[in-house]
Amino acid sequence: MSAKPTIGHGRKAHDGLMRLHFLGAASTVTGSQFLLETDRAKILVDCGMFQGSPHEVMRNRVPFAYDPASIDALLLTHAHLDHCGLIPHLAAEGFHGPIYATRGTVELARLVLLDSAKLQEEFAQRHERFQQRHPGQAAREDRAEQKDLDAAVADARVPPGETGVPPGETGVPPGETGNPEEAVRSQPPHVTTALDAPLYDSADAERALALFRGVEYGAELDVAPGVRASFLDAGHILGSAMIRLSVWGSGPPRGISGTTVPELRGEAPRSLVFSGDLGRPDTPIIRDPTRLDNADYVVVESTYGGREHEPEGEAVRLLAEAVRLVADAKGVLLVPSFAIGRTQEVVWHLDRLIESGTIPMLPLYLDSPMASKATDIYRRYGDYYDEETRALVASGKAPLDYPGAHVTNDAADSRAIGASPRPHMIVASNGMLTGGRVLQHLRELVGDPATLLLFVGYQGEGTLGARLQGGAKQIRIDGETHDVHCRVRSIGGFSAHADESEILDWLRGFTAPKLARRVFIVHGDPAAQQALEPKIRALGLDTHVPRWREAVELD
Ligand SMILES: [Zn+2]
Repeated sequence: MSAKPTIGHGRKAHDGLMRLHFLGAASTVTGSQFLLETDRAKILVDCGMFQGSPHEVMRNRVPFAYDPASIDALLLTHAHLDHCGLIPHLAAEGFHGPIYATRGTVELARLVLLDSAKLQEEFAQRHERFQQRHPGQAAREDRAEQKDLDAAVADARVPPGETGVPPGETGVPPGETGNPEEAVRSQPPHVTTALDAPLYDSADAERALALFRGVEYGAELDVAPGVRASFLDAGHILGSAMIRLSVWGSGPPRGISGTTVPELRGEAPRSLVFSGDLGRPDTPIIRDPTRLDNADYVVVESTYGGREHEPEGEAVRLLAEAVRLVADAKGVLLVPSFAIGRTQEVVWHLDRLIESGTIPMLPLYLDSPMASKATDIYRRYGDYYDEETRALVASGKAPLDYPGAHVTNDAADSRAIGASPRPHMIVASNGMLTGGRVLQHLRELVGDPATLLLFVGYQGEGTLGARLQGGAKQIRIDGETHDVHCRVRSIGGFSAHADESEILDWLRGFTAPKLARRVFIVHGDPAAQQALEPKIRALGLDTHVPRWREAVELD
């Protein structure tokens, strides 16, 4: 591991300072945030929430590592909360520059950030009521939280010159590394903002949303002095992008008539690529991740380092089998699902399976307001679709719409589903049964042997979903005990992230004709990063696993 930062090594003096700060998603999968600093500009890439363990969550409360007002621009890879969730907080703390993201991400981020603000406000109100009723316990909890915060602030101080992740120090308690990205996906934002006041409210979110500027995939944009950016398909969720930067530092003026601006003098820039969350090739709806080459530095995610996915074809086969079982039993198929991405993908597959005559057409109830709003956005972005989905649209089909699907508008609609004729299917949020409308359906159906509960995403350790997956005979929902008589099945092959081979395939682009100078491995748990790093090195690439708040000088 190249641990020591190098300054100016091998570069001409006029290239100037270039420093990359790793402010989140460093040896964890959440809180994505990177600051690129030159002597002319400061650019943030992502500003996500930390989610997961209480230790990590407390990092949301640690003051920013820089003055937010000093940032020239923020570039956002995609709309998941662990990439955009701190933006309203950043704006409330003084950031007022432009926020660049693809048009699709701008719309999805509005949905995600307003929802996050609302949940935080509600949590703060509940906390206040709790404080009034149980002042002693609330004070004890507040003291414990303050201690956690002090520890997080201490963590944030990386001694100068010290880099890399020390052995054994992971920031993540053992046993919480199952499938980290999805483990946080259905976690409500209020969990991530301990201490009493909401980290931000709806008004903060609205103010931040006014700073967003929608950009086109592939366009070259001058986002700050000496920094040019382009957003390219990442194939992860709608609007998701990897970001390529061309960066020019300042140089001393040369000649008496020549310009002092290096990019105008035709000097070669240094180039950086941020993978964002890297999707998988050949998944439905959106285009595949872009293959790139010729970067000086690459910042790559590593969520699935050391792991391979089940083929998607197998996942689709299991989905079809589940529908047929429920049809034969005249029962109910209950699918807990993440609102953005997974729900649209499952509906797309059901639609194709009906079209090919593989499954009978059962009534489908879509019971997640957030998922319905996300689907509306997916529907409007036909220009982001891959060839297959475009061809379906061109032939007059509506590939994101299940025929005759019942979309619920309010809680009364949701309750009425229980009385509807069988067999039928329900897709409801959230994906790990940690909250949301799916719980009400589960309460009614868990004791019913004609129901099949089908998991299409990872179930985080300790969640109700994980207990059911583990074969629990009894569960508790809102303090009530229920016997489990429904069938439980799981599909592991749907994923929005590249697995290890797919990450390595993508990185191979940076080995020829030019070898990237260094690959920074981020957005993964230590075990995943340790598995992946030697394989990246075997491609001939230099690697570094940054530590939280580490700054690295780029030569
Ligand atoms: Zn993501």
